[in-house]
Amino acid sequence: MHVEALFTDLDGTLIPPDVSREDARLTSRLHAALSRLSEELKLAVITTKDYHFASRLVPFAHAWATIGGLEITTRDNTSYVEERVLEKQHAIGRVLSLAEELASGLDRIVVERKLLRDRVTLAGLAFDWRLSGSVEKAVEAASLIEAEAKAHGLHVMRYPGRPYLDVFAAEIDKGKALRRLREILNIGGAVIYMGDSEADNPAFREAEISIGIIHSETPKNLEAKHTIPFNARENFLEALQASRDVESILREMHVS
Ligand SMILES: [Mg+2]
Repeated sequence: MHVEALFTDLDGTLIPPDVSREDARLTSRLHAALSRLSEELKLAVITTKDYHFASRLVPFAHAWATIGGLEITTRDNTSYVEERVLEKQHAIGRVLSLAEELASGLDRIVVERKLLRDRVTLAGLAFDWRLSGSVEKAVEAASLIEAEAKAHGLHVMRYPGRPYLDVFAAEIDKGKALRRLREILNIGGAVIYMGDSEADNPAFREAEISIGIIHSETPKNLEAKHTIPFNARENFLEALQASRDVESILREMHVS
């Protein structure tokens, strides 16, 4: 099947898993390879981050499925927003207040608002204690936030062993985001999907060619058919400019 599109996650896939929002950027090799590929393939980002972050990092994409696909924006500035996000504004506001109140009593907790492109509508929030010295109290606070969010019918994601929690207005599903992007971008051919976490598994299952990116935080239960080390992602994307035969590219790179 003819490869028509390249869809990719951002954190832990294109950029390192532990970089701050301000410091995040593509390497110059990645920038060059992806921007050239975007002239030949439909390029889209599928991320739990927001539109402003994703479009700053990959400005030449054809579309950005952000906040787990709750908002999809195309190059012509059309946005598609999941209806539940608008219905749940009050509930998310309540959980945000609780998260901010709990964070104010602890050291170095980051409460990130996941805002839509309009920079006003809240689609979710993250409670992040990776920099905090009070881990035990932060974990207790995270449990309170989780309970409050669930009581309001919001969707909570906790990641085993990772020091943050995400709350979303609705269930996020990167597989559904991939299907929507296929429709919106009118893709009939094969899609390559690159990701590095459990959250990417539904998208791996939807893509014709799935590529897991392996680094020290990658979980064992990745459902990608192929895997490449994080440090080899630039080589892979550069090789993709010359050939669309992913299996032989990977063979030549001596990875699976
Ligand atoms: Mg990731």
